[in-house]
Amino acid sequence: MKKILPDTKGHWGKFGGKFVPETLMVALEELSSAYKEAKKDKKFSEEVDYFLRQYVGRPSPLYYADRFSKKVGVKVYLKREDLLHTGAHKINNTIGQALLAKRMGKKRLIAETGAGQHGVATATVAALLGMPCDVYMGEDDIARQKLNVFKMRLLGTRVVPVKTGSKTLKDAINEALRDWVTNVRTTYYLLGSVVGPYPYPVIVRDFQSVIGKETRRQIRKLEGRLPDYVVACVGGGSNSMGIFYPFLKDKKVKLIGVEAGGLGLALGKHGASLNKGTEGVLHGAKTYILQDKDGQIAPTHSVAPGLDYSGVGPEHAYLKETGRASYYIVKDKDALDAFFMLSRLEGILPALESSHALAWVRNFSSNFKKNDVVVVNLSGRGDKDVDIVEDYL
Ligand SMILES: *Cc1c(COP(=O)(O)O)cnc(C)c1O
Repeated sequence: MKKILPDTKGHWGKFGGKFVPETLMVALEELSSAYKEAKKDKKFSEEVDYFLRQYVGRPSPLYYADRFSKKVGVKVYLKREDLLHTGAHKINNTIGQALLAKRMGKKRLIAETGAGQHGVATATVAALLGMPCDVYMGEDDIARQKLNVFKMRLLGTRVVPVKTGSKTLKDAINEALRDWVTNVRTTYYLLGSVVGPYPYPVIVRDFQSVIGKETRRQIRKLEGRLPDYVVACVGGGSNSMGIFYPFLKDKKVKLIGVEAGGLGLALGKHGASLNKGTEGVLHGAKTYILQDKDGQIAPTHSVAPGLDYSGVGPEHAYLKETGRASYYIVKDKDALDAFFMLSRLEGILPALESSHALAWVRNFSSNFKKNDVVVVNLSGRGDKDVDIVEDYL
């Protein structure tokens, strides 16, 4: 019989697990069993489906990008997560988890955010369900992401500045965990990607899998078969895991994850944890992380705010190790070029994160076969990034 992964302790091979203080072990157990029950309950999945359809705007189209395809010389379909409410895939997960929190009888939501995208997606569902919400955010990130901070406040969420460490995402996660330890009875910690201790990587992946399920159905209808390539950018790894997961057993479908190559391959200049990281424990899970030789977490850089993270989900670490998925690097400059290209050719401003996936397709174009079909997950829209692009110009 085939081994079922992750195992009951949340391991994919040597990756994953739950490296947390004792007080949180109890909370993670509670979350695991509540999620297991919710998954079996038809009412719960109907409720999630209802909000995905009527509030988020699912299903998102699978759009054949004709002019982009002609330019790169291969058939490219875009999975339009950019068209969802709040402009990216993150809402798939926050809707699901907020409904789970409510089902568990939790009164309050907390979350961490780096660039503010997950913070906005959480603040949105907190307002929708009438739950008070605190979002932890590094002070430096607050200064850089004024628009998202303002949006969260408009939505009724309190943004809590984190003044410790590098004053960025990893410190915000630590603060959110600290809050959770203290208030675990009343509070639900809504994690934003397929990272953290088990069961979070499974919960987030399951809620994001709607992307891959729809894609599978849509491409079959459009092409009469499955695609040759599925391509997605990897920050923490949730949009990629969401589109990969329903294709894992289709061995002929090549799964391509694209990491932030930033300004170059020296430590501190990029966000390529799978390509350039080493094994270690970060935020409660064993995975590939960017660290120096003393085990200190290294700073990261990417022009795409959402790819600026020094770890990656443990299931990706496993998919890399087993060879089921392949992970490549795209630099800032190439991602920006792809941003301009899609804008001019298709009238779509892609998020700079998603632009990494588009750039990979362009860079790889001479290697495709004549009739290959490529699906790119367009994880978000680029409106949020126009200031960054303007600075670059
Ligand atoms: C947050 C974000 C990402 C990166 O996060 P993943 O968990 O790797 O998906 C990618 N694209 C967009 C638009 C984002 O907002």
